Amino acid sequence: MSEQTIALVTGANKGIGYEIAAGLGALGWRVGVGARNDERREAAVEKLRAADVDAFGVPLDVTDDASVAAAAGLIEDRAGRLDALVNNAGGGTQQTPTTADVATVRAAVETNVIGVIRVTNAMLPLLRRSGAPRIVNVSSGLGSLTLQTTAGAETGPIDGAYTPTKTFLNAVTIQYAKELRDTNILINAACPGFCATDLTGFSGVRTPEQGAATAIRLATLPDDGPTGGFFNDAGELPW
Ligand code: NDP
Repeated sequence: MSEQTIALVTGANKGIGYEIAAGLGALGWRVGVGARNDERREAAVEKLRAADVDAFGVPLDVTDDASVAAAAGLIEDRAGRLDALVNNAGGGTQQTPTTADVATVRAAVETNVIGVIRVTNAMLPLLRRSGAPRIVNVSSGLGSLTLQTTAGAETGPIDGAYTPTKTFLNAVTIQYAKELRDTNILINAACPGFCATDLTGFSGVRTPEQGAATAIRLATLPDDGPTGGFFNDAGELPW
């Protein structure tokens, strides 16, 4: 079994996920670049390798059971274990609740929530073989129920589609943390801030690299680090 620490980052072909992979790679980690599109995945792997990152491609569509099972098999063959899983893949559009297209809402839940559960559960046997397993769910401060119900807090436009998927993801993260409390697995949610990526039409004020920082920190937590928390660069966020 490899002594090098190994991470899987989902949706790592571009945006924040790519920068999480680059950042972990720069720390000497071996990084599985999870991405569903062959061309985009291989381009990202090549770019990371050119930057001296020990990267390998992991074909992965988080909405597909067979794809996720095959990804776990590939990591098993390559490394025999997983030290950090970063559930970054996500997407969707913001829609007013009263006019939301239900198929669009369902697709966002499938990727942003069910996808995280599917990938996490498939990777758990590999994570349990690590001496210091970490799971990071890339969420959003927009999903915070506390902030949504705090007068004056900035939580974006009224949205019954994308934003609630992050609230759902936060709730799922809390439940995993409770179940895994007596293990050495630390699981936390990260908010990258408003970043310039495809998701935001490049309107975000932060770079994807800045957006990656909290997820990298949570993927590399020491053994006495937090679990069941929600963090951004500035510290802990309310759920
Ligand atoms: P991008 O659109 O740049 O990247 C999204 C990534 O997710 C892509 O790699 C995309 O792959 C992948 N993805 C989407 N669906 C699937 C799927 N079914 N299987 C595998 N991969 C998939 O957006 P960001 O980098 O901005 O977003 C990354 C994460 O950060 C998301 O979870 C997002 O919700 C979150 N976030 C982003 C913020 C921002 O301001 N940008 C703010 C708060 C949270 P493909 O290229 O194939 O589409």
